[in-house]
Amino acid sequence: MTDCVFCRIIARESHAEIEYEDDAVLVFKDIYPKAPIHLLIVPKRHIESVMAMEAGDVEAMGRCLLAARRLGEAKGFAERGYRVSVHCGPEGGQLVYHVHFHFLAGRPPRA
Ligand code: 5GP
Ligand code: ZN
Repeated sequence: MTDCVFCRIIARESHAEIEYEDDAVLVFKDIYPKAPIHLLIVPKRHIESVMAMEAGDVEAMGRCLLAARRLGEAKGFAERGYRVSVHCGPEGGQLVYHVHFHFLAGRPPRA
């Protein structure tokens, strides 16, 4: 059993409200939403952080962004737009060390 909280969600060992899944990507609701729609887009393969990303991770990371585009379209935000953000390392506010893209929509972000 892994001690990575997102790997446990991917393995269905922990609960999450899953919104989208394909062979490379899982998307689930953030447990503490900071916008009307706040999803986390994660590669299924454990990558710690953008700060630890390697050339072999490019496909998995790109697939996450493709999932963001699909979610934006599926949820009706293709025109209005949304925010996709990544926290990187301690001073970037990263708390979970399984890389993830925040998908925030439904309210103009503050910064
Ligand atoms: P970050 O590392 O990007 O700063 O923050 C991690 C994000 O993951 C936070 O927005 C937090 O609410 C969310 N999060 C942390 N643990 C869990 C969890 O077990 N389940 C879900 N669905 N979200 C989580
Ligand atoms: Zn992990």
